[in-house]
Amino acid sequence: MPETDSQNRAPPLPLSHLDHLWFQAGGTLCNLTCHHCFISCSPKNRSFGFLSLAEVKRRLEESVPLGVKEYYFTGGEPFLNPEMTAILIETLRYGPATVLTNGTVLKDEWLEELRAAEARSLYSLEFRVSIDGFSAETNDPIRGEGTFMRAMRGVAKLVELGFLPIITAARTWDIDRDHEVVGEFVAMLRATGYARPRLKILPTLQLGAEEQRTHGYRQSERVTGEMLRGYDRSQLICEHSRIVTDRGVHVCPILIEAPDSLLGQTLEEATRPFPLSHGACYTCYQYGAICSNPSSGTRGA
Ligand code: SF4
Ligand code: SF4
Repeated sequence: MPETDSQNRAPPLPLSHLDHLWFQAGGTLCNLTCHHCFISCSPKNRSFGFLSLAEVKRRLEESVPLGVKEYYFTGGEPFLNPEMTAILIETLRYGPATVLTNGTVLKDEWLEELRAAEARSLYSLEFRVSIDGFSAETNDPIRGEGTFMRAMRGVAKLVELGFLPIITAARTWDIDRDHEVVGEFVAMLRATGYARPRLKILPTLQLGAEEQRTHGYRQSERVTGEMLRGYDRSQLICEHSRIVTDRGVHVCPILIEAPDSLLGQTLEEATRPFPLSHGACYTCYQYGAICSNPSSGTRGA
């Protein structure tokens, strides 16, 4: 396949292997309305619906012959889905699971049930909790009044139960301040009893609410074939993942609202290559590994 087309646009990126399967379990419904949310989730956004336990079970079965190794759950807020705990427990029969949550609606009994399920399982359950500042003063203007305290209550319970939640923060500060901000996060997390916090700093994506808050992508911000030469493509989530929504199977969790992201109704259909023609692909290219879990210990990404 040629590396470039006539406009030097990147050629469609093939899926190397379907290692990770994502589920838009919470649809676009969220109890929060963060200013930078790249799919503008909110308490009123029902553009994408919840995935039911029955649908997730069907997809888990479908994923086995394709050799999927890990499962990821996102939204919206997945824990608004009344079947979320049961979905995670079921998934732990198939492989390791990671759930992305804003941490503000977690109930102790759900977490205790999930801890017991993980202890019975061969596989691990990871939580990623998004918090965008190391204090109420830095977090709440972005995520909403009172959200820092509520999310930290969720983090404290997860830590108490022996989970090692990955704290994710969208970089709404200047990149030169990363070191300082990471230091503040670590100090805050340690002070709450999380001795070896795991932290992942994410770039913002110029889509959805963030596009309104700041700006969208310029036409020049596109991946070209030339840029991909010698580039480690495994850093791009679409190189080894797909995501199930209530509409079918899409290329990645970032682009679900783009009509061309819907690749088919079956996982097999959705294994076809996808052209990296969106502005968001440029952010993925620049920062890499946006959606993967960090290993133990603290780092920015
Ligand atoms: S960024 Fe996350 S927590 Fe905030 S509105 Fe979007 S889905 Fe909800
Ligand atoms: S937004 Fe990122 S993950 Fe999605 S298709 Fe583009 S490069 Fe791949």
